Amino acid sequence: MKLGDMQQNPRHFINGRWEGGTTTGVSTNPSDTREVVAEYARGDKNQTESAIRAAADALPHWRHSTPQRRADVLDQIGSELLARKDELGTLLAREEGKTLPESVAEVARAGQIFKFFAGEALRIPGEVMASVRQGVQVDVTREPVGVVGIIAPWNFPFAIPAWKIAPALAYGNTVVFKPAELVPACGWALAEIISRCGLPAGVFNLVMGSGRQVGQTLVDHPLVNALSFTGSVSTGERILQAATARRAKVQLEMGGKNPLVVLADADFDQAIECALQGSYFSTGQRCTASSRLIVESSVHDAFVARLRQRLMALKVGHALERGIEMGPVVDGAQLEQNLSYIEIGRNEGAEHVWGGERLERATPGHYMSPALFLAQPQHRIAREEIFGPVACVLRADDYEHALALANDTPFGLCAGICTTSLKHAMHFKRHAEAGMTMVNLPTAGVDFHVPFGGRKESSHGSREQGRYAVEFYTTVKTGYMLA
Ligand code: NAP
Repeated sequence: MKLGDMQQNPRHFINGRWEGGTTTGVSTNPSDTREVVAEYARGDKNQTESAIRAAADALPHWRHSTPQRRADVLDQIGSELLARKDELGTLLAREEGKTLPESVAEVARAGQIFKFFAGEALRIPGEVMASVRQGVQVDVTREPVGVVGIIAPWNFPFAIPAWKIAPALAYGNTVVFKPAELVPACGWALAEIISRCGLPAGVFNLVMGSGRQVGQTLVDHPLVNALSFTGSVSTGERILQAATARRAKVQLEMGGKNPLVVLADADFDQAIECALQGSYFSTGQRCTASSRLIVESSVHDAFVARLRQRLMALKVGHALERGIEMGPVVDGAQLEQNLSYIEIGRNEGAEHVWGGERLERATPGHYMSPALFLAQPQHRIAREEIFGPVACVLRADDYEHALALANDTPFGLCAGICTTSLKHAMHFKRHAEAGMTMVNLPTAGVDFHVPFGGRKESSHGSREQGRYAVEFYTTVKTGYMLA
């Protein structure tokens, strides 16, 4: 079977072999729903169990492989992703609807992540410590946690799986990866590259299919030692309950309702750009999207007027079209959900400034105009994650009021501030209740080599990305020796 055929008909990768599914699913292009991107194999409980057993069987060998061998594999995967970023970026744009420049950048980022963890495989930390007893030496080493189940969302189909799979393999674990059902071709394309870079059979497995079948089997299976999940709070909470009941290690990255504070002393144009990029780029489908814009009263009206102007001119269209700033919403269900929040906002008395309408374009797709509201803190549109191009502005009396509004949310992923005051910037960095803070930058847009994660309902467990990933993907062993 040629690569092109395989991309059209993605199959599972289990124990080093490509396998069909029990049923078939279809993914379509959100920019042009007439276009089928992939007819993919959908796995069931039995196939997921086969993949888990393959990963468990491969573990004893892989965990004792040399770090250099693991580094070589990861480096090769990274090089392949970087070399093919344009082709794979086009696939991502077709299947998920992100604009082409954003899609290509995401694939490149996935490549950089694999290269970063190629280096980390050679730097697994440990330490030798003095004992309180005469002649005894203590060492602390890290060992792989075991079989890791990776459950990914659709909104970053290359970067998020990369930042889970790369550290899992670097630290000697074996993997069963379930991509989201909306992006099977992207999940498959990543797996296809991984399958050709020298891993022994069973070390890495891909099973496509529903959360209820494939995902739930990973969550419940006693041979899966750790689960790394990114997705919604409701799914994350269910996973947490089930997995902790059987004492599996769990890492959850979930939603956000991220504030961007704009103070009167901010560079005005820079603040508008931060709001625009943070709220609407990637069609607002980012857990770090700036969906609450908290603006100091004296610049509030000017800010809203300028942002509205900018939104009126925002180019919405087919993800592959040159010059497009915002692609479609990922699917019909998400589009309907976004539009229902426009109604909710109007009904609860928020002032509708702009957008939130279904759009027609040259191709039939899930298009909508970017929406902006003036809201009150208690409004649902100011409290609930919408996960689309819908932002609201809250008016703040002063910096203290803005900080209080920023922290008035059950989420705590990322919080940003636009200001030229060093005092306020430093205070905000210390007092924002979030895992990540941004000063004069959009809340969305993070580096690939530093910790990623949040507080409150946004995250559970240790951080993803960067050197902190070692916490989740390894377990500590303390050794004593009478010298
Ligand atoms: P989702 O519905 O929770 O799905 C996430 C993944 O979980 C999908 O692969 C899904 O499978 C699977 N799943 C569903 N039910 C499951 C179950 N019972 N057991 C095991 N797995 C199950 O979330 P989504 O709609 O894909 O993604 C959007 C959400 O992700 C937003 O809330 C967003 O904020 C969050 N997100 C967070 C971050 C972060 O780092 N904090 C990053 C990106 C996205 P299916 O394929 O069947 O849906």
